[in-house]
Amino acid sequence: MHTGNVFIDLPRDIKSKSDLRSYNKNRDRKRILIENQQVIKKEIGRNSLKKNKHGFSSTKIENEQKRYFIRSIVYLSIFVISFLLMLPFLVSIRSSLWEKKAPVQIENDILYNQFLINGLNTNIVGVKKRKVDNYNLPQFRLIKYKVKRGDSLFEIAQKFNTTIDAIITANKLKNAYYLQINRVLYIPNMPGIFYTIRRGDNLSKIASKYHVSINRIADINDLASPIIRKGEKIFIPNATLSNWERAVALGNIFKAPTIGRLTSRMGFRRDPFTGKIAYHPGIDLANRTGTPIYAAQFGRVIFVGRRGGYGKTVMLAHPKGYVTLYGHLSRILVRKGQVVKQGQLIGRMGNTGRSTGPHLHFEIHQNGKLVNPLEMVKIRR
Ligand SMILES: [Zn+2]
Repeated sequence: MHTGNVFIDLPRDIKSKSDLRSYNKNRDRKRILIENQQVIKKEIGRNSLKKNKHGFSSTKIENEQKRYFIRSIVYLSIFVISFLLMLPFLVSIRSSLWEKKAPVQIENDILYNQFLINGLNTNIVGVKKRKVDNYNLPQFRLIKYKVKRGDSLFEIAQKFNTTIDAIITANKLKNAYYLQINRVLYIPNMPGIFYTIRRGDNLSKIASKYHVSINRIADINDLASPIIRKGEKIFIPNATLSNWERAVALGNIFKAPTIGRLTSRMGFRRDPFTGKIAYHPGIDLANRTGTPIYAAQFGRVIFVGRRGGYGKTVMLAHPKGYVTLYGHLSRILVRKGQVVKQGQLIGRMGNTGRSTGPHLHFEIHQNGKLVNPLEMVKIRR
């Protein structure tokens, strides 16, 4: 409805009702056009891509497009840079995953047989098709393992539920303390040792010596017949090396400190002075006064001088917590703190201290505990 006010601002050329009608028409058209333009402007604000559809080509639209393009370039470069920064990290994750898997490969029986061939250079221990065991004992396997930095034989043995003796004998290790990085070790998947058949050996003798059943040995080694030949190698489950064999393998071997007759072993004996039973903590090697005394192993002199019943004494400290003691000397030829080589002359045999005749009293300790020298040193008797 129109009120009177509406007509106040009417242009002067409106003189009839039809003029008014056409005026109103025009005014409505203008209003619709303005409204449309406003709607379109809003649309432009929202979406710059739609502008082109509507045919608008202002500089504002071009700026929007440029901004959009620049923004996507920036986002892309941020992504690329962050990926490049993360690359070393990703690579390290990948390689650590690889390391965990790759070095350990379960080998089949063929490897074991190859091992026997390489180890023997003679005939293979009888090979036959393995029958399915009727008892639930694990099958024997050799596992290939590449030594990594920081590995120790003891840790490797623990990891594979086996013993150092098993690894030592499977790989003929000369010095098991110093494993070369990247060296490939063959690791038996169970405790035991590889045993080289000697003259006069037979399966039942070996079985009873190591408290294992003949059947178990035959099964593990795929023995077709109980006949074994000298030089062949077989795996004996649960067997261990003697202390001497292990000492050799671990590089704990000591040289004989002198040449002499073994007159007393380590252990309980009647004391030559009191006649009472007493513990003798080392071995006695008797010879003439002045017989040279040698360092049993590379080490450092930690004591020189008189030491109670030991008389004139030298003590040496060695790697792995070993200490050796040389008693009843007539002369001491080293100073405290001096470093000595294995086999170096350190003194002369004598009769000082509580001694009934010229001899060397020799002791070995490891980490404060007595060790039987006869297990560590090959004494010529
Ligand atoms: Zn003694």
